[in-house]
Amino acid sequence: MQIEDSIKEILSDIEKYSPQPEKVKLVVVTKYNVCEDMQKLFDLNYKIVAENKAQVMKEKVAYFKDRNINDIEWHFIGNLQKNKIKYIIDTVSLIHSVNSLSLAEEIDKKSKEINKITNVLLEINISNEESKHGYRIEDLYRDLKSLLELKNINIVGLMTMAPYIEDEDLVREIFCNLRKLKDELNEKFFDGKLKELSMGMTNDYKIALEEGSTIIRIGRKIFK
Ligand SMILES: *Cc1c(COP(=O)(O)O)cnc(C)c1O
Repeated sequence: MQIEDSIKEILSDIEKYSPQPEKVKLVVVTKYNVCEDMQKLFDLNYKIVAENKAQVMKEKVAYFKDRNINDIEWHFIGNLQKNKIKYIIDTVSLIHSVNSLSLAEEIDKKSKEINKITNVLLEINISNEESKHGYRIEDLYRDLKSLLELKNINIVGLMTMAPYIEDEDLVREIFCNLRKLKDELNEKFFDGKLKELSMGMTNDYKIALEEGSTIIRIGRKIFK
């Protein structure tokens, strides 16, 4: 019941806060959960989930495959080590966390081996904190040409994480800057191909929606 109520609340917040609610997708972050918890979500017929550890995702995929639950959309949102791409590459529908050229190249290579074109987002360190993962903007510009040459990845948008801070104006500015970066990249390099903005978590998803998020990634609010 709890899970269902939270999902309903978030879906109605999408209508309330997003300027284009029809473009927004809720991805339920299940990294804190065991498979039995996830089953409750699937029983409600909500099947878009995200994990942040490749090995764990692989085990969960196998668990549900064994139970013949096959129409789950798996997203990957964590720091992805190159030697673990193989665990997720065949099932993942979107990798949110591409933060270097070498990682993109390796995903491209592993995708090619299985004849797949993998959808990815570039994770951007928009607030430029030393501690955060994500592409620094200057590095992104340096790598863009090479990124665009990779044939087995399809870059469909950008992702960022705002820091945990009280200052809502600063959070809003970070999301707003990601949107501006997407628009600029679309104009100069991607010819409008970047559609997605993955931004907003439990603490800040309403602000993210107002600033044009198309994918919100929510864990704690759903599985308290
Ligand atoms: C854990 C996590 C989330 C979900 O965060 P909540 O605060 O639980 O909603 C979203 N995105 C990423 C990248 C995460 O690691």
